[in-house]
Amino acid sequence: MGATSSAYDFVVVGSGIAGLSFALRAAQHGKVLVVTKRLSGSGSTNLAQGGIASVLDPADSLDRHVEDTLIAGAGLCRRDRVEILVSNGPDAVRRLVDWGARFTRASASSRARGVPFDLAREGGHTGSRIVHAADGTGREIQRALIDAVRHNANITVRENMLAIDLVTHKHLKSERPPRGSEGGGGAVHGVYALDAEANRVEMFLGASTLLCTGGVGQVYAHTTNDSVSTGDGIAMAYRAGAAVEDMEFMQFHPTAFYNPGKPIYLISEALRGHGGVLRNKSGKPFMEGAHPQKSLAPRDIVARAIDAEMKRTGDPCVYLDMTKLGGRADLRKHFPNIFDHCLAAGIDMSKQWIPVVPAAHFMCGGIQVDSHSATRLENLYAVGETACTGVHGANRLASNSLLEGVVFSERALARILEFSPARPNPRQFRAWDSFRLRPAPETVIYAHSLETIRSTMWHYVGIVRSDFRLARAAEFLHVIGRQIQSDYWSFSMEPNLIELRNLTLCAELIVRSARRRHESRGLHYNVDHPARLPVARHTVLRPPRNAST
Ligand SMILES: Cc1cc2nc3c(=O)[nH]c(=O)nc-3n(C[C@H](O)[C@H](O)[C@H](O)COP(=O)(O)OP(=O)(O)OC[C@H]3O[C@@H](n4cnc5c(N)ncnc54)[C@H](O)[C@@H]3O)c2cc1C
Repeated sequence: MGATSSAYDFVVVGSGIAGLSFALRAAQHGKVLVVTKRLSGSGSTNLAQGGIASVLDPADSLDRHVEDTLIAGAGLCRRDRVEILVSNGPDAVRRLVDWGARFTRASASSRARGVPFDLAREGGHTGSRIVHAADGTGREIQRALIDAVRHNANITVRENMLAIDLVTHKHLKSERPPRGSEGGGGAVHGVYALDAEANRVEMFLGASTLLCTGGVGQVYAHTTNDSVSTGDGIAMAYRAGAAVEDMEFMQFHPTAFYNPGKPIYLISEALRGHGGVLRNKSGKPFMEGAHPQKSLAPRDIVARAIDAEMKRTGDPCVYLDMTKLGGRADLRKHFPNIFDHCLAAGIDMSKQWIPVVPAAHFMCGGIQVDSHSATRLENLYAVGETACTGVHGANRLASNSLLEGVVFSERALARILEFSPARPNPRQFRAWDSFRLRPAPETVIYAHSLETIRSTMWHYVGIVRSDFRLARAAEFLHVIGRQIQSDYWSFSMEPNLIELRNLTLCAELIVRSARRRHESRGLHYNVDHPARLPVARHTVLRPPRNAST
């Protein structure tokens, strides 16, 4: 049965870099609730290896960082948002340091030049500007943020909670839209979330609600993303009436460790930044001639070249050669986690090539937001990978996404403080209606449906697309989507079903967006439309007016 909790000033869904950096700043202004599947060790933030991009070297420039981002984004970035992202970079890094993040320090000679941290170089960047904590940057940031949150009396964290849907004006007992929401997409007042252990749905109300639920990598058979990355925020927002933008742009990381049957592990771009060379099985450095930056070309180019090489040779992977780069001690010093991971899997990268394959990695699109991360629904904000701020355009520049989480959470807070919305009154809202009493005859069907969706997306909506394959994917998803929708409204609520419903919707949104783009641009490559159109357009999808929630 549903239970009602008291209202907060800020309800935040998700505890990655976006959710926690927002919570820490918002806690200076009111009571914050963070609802999350898992606090420690979950989400993409915790997995990030390379680092966070910021111009901290006097020899570098903000303009160059802006230009690099725009070039990677293939004409689809919103320039004003990119400028906001880049110009706030140094402050964002300082804030993380203030919260306790310990980044790798610069050498004495660099410090004498005014450079505080060791700055790595990654693909597509024309300067060294990646602040990092060895090769475990995300884990260090997450550790610092969680420590700071735990010591903050204004922040309540509810773990093992799975947000199901947004509380909107439709859930008012009066069943009339609240004043001021007419004509817009309506107002949002919080979330309904499943406490899976207690098997109870709770209602959490907030004056403002932030979706910080991360990406949707789990929609693909092979992904670097954590199991929590099921696109829940995107699906919840869309069902409530928000628009989504540029969902066709899924970034495939070119180099995940190839170890069949084992969870996918990322081989950071920083290894190619360090001089690593991609080779096929015969040793040919196939990126030579493919792009002027060779193995350090932008990710979409490298991923497509690897895909083509694998298709051409029939081999299940290609290789990253680190064997001529400073030897064991040096490689272990720079890449301690990756070195040990490879070693545990039987590869000594100082002597052997690392087997690698591409994997779904980062969603550039997401919930459409303005330059303050506000959605078109009143009091609903989206920050981090779940949002489409427009800074990534058609392809994300490496290490810009951790930065996006910190910068745009600050922007969202600034906007909320401008309007100071009032906390909703819990007595005016309906508790969750637990009408689903019938257990599913077999829950294994959810696993089968998930497998079908993930393999459909991998084979038909992957790195290289075609009109025929996209149409096939749309047909499969239509059938499976109807089944899952029917299961959702018929059977008992459980996490697998909730996530499956969200993944199906996100898969459909990706396919619909891909079918609308009749060109190849950035991460979206369609063999039937190989050219880039002269005018760049965003793909925006809005839910039909009377869509059921
Ligand atoms: C392997 C890997 C390496 C990467 N390396 C880098 C890098 O070096 N630099 C860089 O800039 N970017 C990197 N990225 C991308 C970057 O890490 C992410 O884009 C960023 O961390 C996203 O942060 P976030 O806060 O939006 O989401 P996440 O960190 O993914 O957090 C999402 C949170 O939402 C919670 N959640 C999700 N759904 C629900 C729900 N329904 N109810 C309750 N809680 C929910 C999850 O539990 C989690 O706490 C990498 C990504 C991966 C996967």
